[in-house]
Amino acid sequence: MKGCVMRVRVRLEELENKSLAPYAAKSGQSLGRKYPEKEHDFRTAFQRDRDRIVHCTAFRRLEYKTQVFVNHEGDHYRTRLTHTLEAAQIGRTIARCLGLNEDLSETIILAHDLGHGPFGHAGEDALGDLMESHGGFEHNEQSLRIVEVLEDSYQEFPGLNLTLETRVGMQKHLKEKVEGYHLESRIADLCDEIAYDCHDLDDGLRSGLLKPAELAQTDFWNETSDYILGKYSNIRDAQLNRLAVRLITNRMVSDLMSETRLNLKKYKIQTADDFFNTPHPVASFSPKIQKRKEELEEFLKHYLYQHPRVIRMTHKGKRFLREIFRVYEECPAQLPSHVQARGKQEGIHRAICDYIAGMTDRFALEEYKKLFEPFERV
Ligand code: MG
Repeated sequence: MKGCVMRVRVRLEELENKSLAPYAAKSGQSLGRKYPEKEHDFRTAFQRDRDRIVHCTAFRRLEYKTQVFVNHEGDHYRTRLTHTLEAAQIGRTIARCLGLNEDLSETIILAHDLGHGPFGHAGEDALGDLMESHGGFEHNEQSLRIVEVLEDSYQEFPGLNLTLETRVGMQKHLKEKVEGYHLESRIADLCDEIAYDCHDLDDGLRSGLLKPAELAQTDFWNETSDYILGKYSNIRDAQLNRLAVRLITNRMVSDLMSETRLNLKKYKIQTADDFFNTPHPVASFSPKIQKRKEELEEFLKHYLYQHPRVIRMTHKGKRFLREIFRVYEECPAQLPSHVQARGKQEGIHRAICDYIAGMTDRFALEEYKKLFEPFERV
């Protein structure tokens, strides 16, 4: 029995070699982990990475971190966690259809937002300002810091000791490709974009902050709603909105797959090395869909992300974080002992920043009350 179980990973690796495209990342050829470990008996290296991410503390915190709407605004809006799951789902579909390593794409996406602080991008801006002369703050870098340093569950190593391929895939905005970079990483980035464009559109409509009449400025919405009304002339508004979001998602996903397939042919990408060496963007949308996507993003920026209600919600969060940071900075003895200990190793500002970045929205709000309201228990 033991021998049989032990062969499962080897069989999975062989299956990958046979069934995945020649340009896909193969778990059996992974460049490995920083702290060498024997690989697992019945999971591939990338599957093991994925499971470590799903079981880590930072992953569970995503449930109470803001995507666009602060958690207490309503139960049906996306959170960082559901955003992550939607993006991972899209990533798996695309990877599978392109013959790529589904496990690696999924793993990278599940980890990509671990470093987000509370209150979405407003929180990131606040921490960025506060850390300006102490090494800065950026959520992608923080995601890496979590999996390399901060997660504390293993006796043998700090962090999660993930494979190089997963860690490289988590580094967005790479200036140039580095060893371990694969097409799966690029797909993961684009799936993140598809997921947030589409679900922010959905949440914006649900909240009433976005109006279909205003959305009619965009080609994506016009073409899609015309198509729907041609097919179902008496559809209810709410159903039309939801169907339109589904169709727009589907259009982006299908387009990314077909355009990427064309590029693989056009640039003669046969192996992972060919992908690594080509100067061309292999994973991309067609010019037509790229244009529509940018137009939709501009629209969301203007009508949703800069909507006074969204700004009020997130700006309030930003103020909380700033004040909490200042209180800790003034008297670090108020911090939990593990944070003080890290402060001794890495400087108190970095330790405070890590602590605050790890907070969920609701933890930060509770902490604010404890620190500032005289009749609140400390
Ligand atoms: Mg994201």
